[in-house]
Amino acid sequence: MSDIDLHYPHAVAPVAGETLEVAPGVLWLRMPMPFPPGHINLWLLRDGEGWAVVDTGLATVAVKDLWHQLLQRYRLTRLICTHYHHDHAGLAGWLCQQAGIRLSMAQAEYQALQKAWQRGADSEKEAGFYLAAGLPAASLAAAIDSFRDGDFIATPPASVTPLADGDVLAIGSHRWRVMTYAGHAPEHALLYSATLGVLIAGDQLLPKITPSVGLNAANRLSDPLGEWLASMQALQNLPASTLVLPSHQLPFVGAASRAGQIARYHRQQLAKLSVLLQGPPASAYALAQALFSRLGNPVAELMAVSETLAHLRYLQLRGQASYALTAEGCQHWSAICCESTLQG
Ligand SMILES: [Zn+2]
Repeated sequence: MSDIDLHYPHAVAPVAGETLEVAPGVLWLRMPMPFPPGHINLWLLRDGEGWAVVDTGLATVAVKDLWHQLLQRYRLTRLICTHYHHDHAGLAGWLCQQAGIRLSMAQAEYQALQKAWQRGADSEKEAGFYLAAGLPAASLAAAIDSFRDGDFIATPPASVTPLADGDVLAIGSHRWRVMTYAGHAPEHALLYSATLGVLIAGDQLLPKITPSVGLNAANRLSDPLGEWLASMQALQNLPASTLVLPSHQLPFVGAASRAGQIARYHRQQLAKLSVLLQGPPASAYALAQALFSRLGNPVAELMAVSETLAHLRYLQLRGQASYALTAEGCQHWSAICCESTLQG
């Protein structure tokens, strides 16, 4: 993806356990992760005499130790989680208990957090889904083995204060509008303060990583890519000066450029896929091999298949692709022939 013009007003990240003010009453802190990208950004928002915190970090000993130190300096008032992924909400239950606070999170994300914690609750359904997409059984087993989401999630809180799209949260002297989008997660929440000119973006808008958009057993009947592209369109309407606080990498200015760039990437992938579908019918696994250049490990393979399926689903819902089942129960995809081709 070619470089675009993003501006990074805070080029040096705080070291783990320290905080850095990035806007009035908005503090940036980082928690470590033992796998790429190596860290997650969290945000503290001045909330009266205390602080609201956005996201938690993974449920690891290292992150808990850092929280123990931080809790001596910062009195927390509430926890807001952008989405259920382990780096964002893994410690939600533990942190709420330690700080005596409540979790606010979109309902679908809270349910997904519970499922991820009960690792394997839907594993048979998930396995069948990926095998039908052509993923070899050995790759699937290796991916499941090395990607144990539940290992980084502590027992979730027993209850949640639900967040919904359009909610306005009064946090300290600022109002934050909740915007939720599907695609990366079922109901990923972003927080926008017009007075501060700040967007807390979670994983929905990252400066240099293209967030994963995938189809899986749970969302297989929806249109994750279509919803994702709609969200990129919506984010392009934010004021140009908006400071974006992403969950990974550095805060940046340039939401519209970045959202436009990510949307272009997916449209290019759709175009490539449409060409591939003119060839012999193929599984999502085979198509993923052609679409993605580097699939070095089983987790990358599984994510590539999931993303390819999201693109296939997008084309299917728009009457441009369909699949037939092979004798082995594998879905083989092809383009839906246009009339001129049939006549030709
Ligand atoms: Zn995520």
